[in-house]
Amino acid sequence: MVHQLHVFFFPFFAHGHMLPTLDMAKVFSSRGAKATVITTPLHAPVFNKAIEKCKQLGFDISIRVVKFPAVEAGLPEGTESADQLISDDMLPNFFLATRLLQEPVEQLLQECRPHCLVADFFFPWATDSAAKYGIPRLLFHGSSSFAMSASESVWRNKPYRNVSSDDEPFVIPDLPHDIYITRGQVSTYERQEVENEFTKMLEQVKESELRSYGVIVNSFYELEPDYAEHYTKKLGRRAWHVGPFVLINKEAEDKAERGKKSAIDQLQCLEWLDKQKPNSVVYVCFGSMSNFNAAQLHEIAKGLEASGQQFIWVVRNCVDEEDSKRWFPEGFEERTKETGLIIKGWAPQLLILGHEAVGAFVTHCGWNSTLEGVSCGVPMVTWPLFAEQFFNEKLLTNVLKIGVGVGAQQWSRRTTQIISAEALTKAVDRIMDGEEALNIRGRAKALKEKARKALEEGGSSYSDFNTLVEELSTYHHASKKPSLSEGANILT
Ligand code: UDP
Repeated sequence: MVHQLHVFFFPFFAHGHMLPTLDMAKVFSSRGAKATVITTPLHAPVFNKAIEKCKQLGFDISIRVVKFPAVEAGLPEGTESADQLISDDMLPNFFLATRLLQEPVEQLLQECRPHCLVADFFFPWATDSAAKYGIPRLLFHGSSSFAMSASESVWRNKPYRNVSSDDEPFVIPDLPHDIYITRGQVSTYERQEVENEFTKMLEQVKESELRSYGVIVNSFYELEPDYAEHYTKKLGRRAWHVGPFVLINKEAEDKAERGKKSAIDQLQCLEWLDKQKPNSVVYVCFGSMSNFNAAQLHEIAKGLEASGQQFIWVVRNCVDEEDSKRWFPEGFEERTKETGLIIKGWAPQLLILGHEAVGAFVTHCGWNSTLEGVSCGVPMVTWPLFAEQFFNEKLLTNVLKIGVGVGAQQWSRRTTQIISAEALTKAVDRIMDGEEALNIRGRAKALKEKARKALEEGGSSYSDFNTLVEELSTYHHASKKPSLSEGANILT
């Protein structure tokens, strides 16, 4: 057994990956491990403040910075983050830069000799790097067992080939429930329609996943028991469900200061929420990467106003007053100044979702936002856009039944389908008022309780964490060091 487990965490360069990884590192250090987070100069401030605070609490956690090789990879100087990429054409260069990081990361492994490397799935080379130093590599997808199982099934079975149009539903084969999806909702990468640097990298990811020691899942057993079992027993993955990591943030300051500086003062935001009745506010936010065009923003404004509900709307692409005039319906801001709070930029999302006034969350179903909604017991209006968000929507609407969809049909990074104001108003009405809304709210509140319990001593995530730490601690004494592909019962 090692005396104190030292774990390296290496998140991908996007908020949806860095925030849960930081929380995961905090969970490990709060449970006695030494945690080192590797990042690049631009992102160091995201981590520094939280890490300093953890240190004051006596946690053994620190950060190591490596230079991001932007120029070497043909990117403009200063590019270090996925949300800085103005076009998909820059993706190959971005992934080249992440590959160039192998050497500096290995130098750090050499220098610090940690016992384990937890690296994002976007770094397929990390499995080999860990092997060079005789340590296990754990993979972090940042998504659920449900989404990973669904994605694997679509990839293997290619059910989209049996339909004649993009909007004809088909069932995703071999899942514990009958989950229907359409070809238009499946990512173009998963459909293997395009062959590019990204799809090649996804192949490498799959290969490196099977050779890695296992997968660390930011989820909890009670949220998706059938899929936790399916992912481990049927798909043969060695996986530990040890989340939701976000619940490590207990104080208002930790909840407010995540990722970036908020565009609104946290007190102003709380004062506004304090004035509203419980469950009366609709919170609208589409994560850190999405960009709507003016026509879509216009429809959202109309839909929110027509719903007659109080709202907080986080608008990322609105850069200045002039800009907002171009797409807000005339007089919108004036008419809704008492009932609505518009945050132009970054919002203290966790703080908002945790407030009792919030009654619903209109979300793009990014896994972090989804888990944050679940952990705060907030029913969701689902509006997936890309990545694995359509799968997350199915989990919320079809399995957990705590979400109502707006009818998003088109997997895309850009606005290709305009969701009408009427569709948004209808979904908001369903989630806020009436008997169906009450039932949904009851289920959402029950899940909040289960999430909290999972992380308490004796809870499922707490216990799974112990199992993982025990395995990692004895790893160096094991005669045989298994890889994921040697897990039981892998489907072929
Ligand atoms: N987030 C936030 N304020 C914002 C937008 C996003 O704090 O204004 C946080 C949110 O709480 C979540 C993360 O950024 O933790 C977004 O991750 P998610 O997986 O939901 O979506 P992505 O940004 O990766 O699409």
